[in-house]
Amino acid sequence: MNEEKQIEGENENRAVRELLPCPFCGGEAEYNATSRKVSGDLRGFGFTIMCKRCGVKLPKTFEIDFRLNGKGEIEVEGKDARECAARMWNTRTENKQ
Ligand SMILES: [Zn+2]
Repeated sequence: MNEEKQIEGENENRAVRELLPCPFCGGEAEYNATSRKVSGDLRGFGFTIMCKRCGVKLPKTFEIDFRLNGKGEIEVEGKDARECAARMWNTRTENKQ
């Protein structure tokens, strides 16, 4: 599920969305889209953050909304919980030590 990659034209906030390794097994973490939604011209995903190796994930679903703007770009509009989700995942990692 790599739909999330399509909206990464903007790189300025990438650092805050970077995920630390899994606190349990040290595996690579990734954003994982779990549901889709459609509302007018907005599209969105429900997603969580999940470890690719052991499958542990955040016990919460986050949301992001985006749409195609007049210039043909995919634009995040409305909800964008990527930073919030990344912070929760990364904090979890720190708490373990
Ligand atoms: Zn893991």
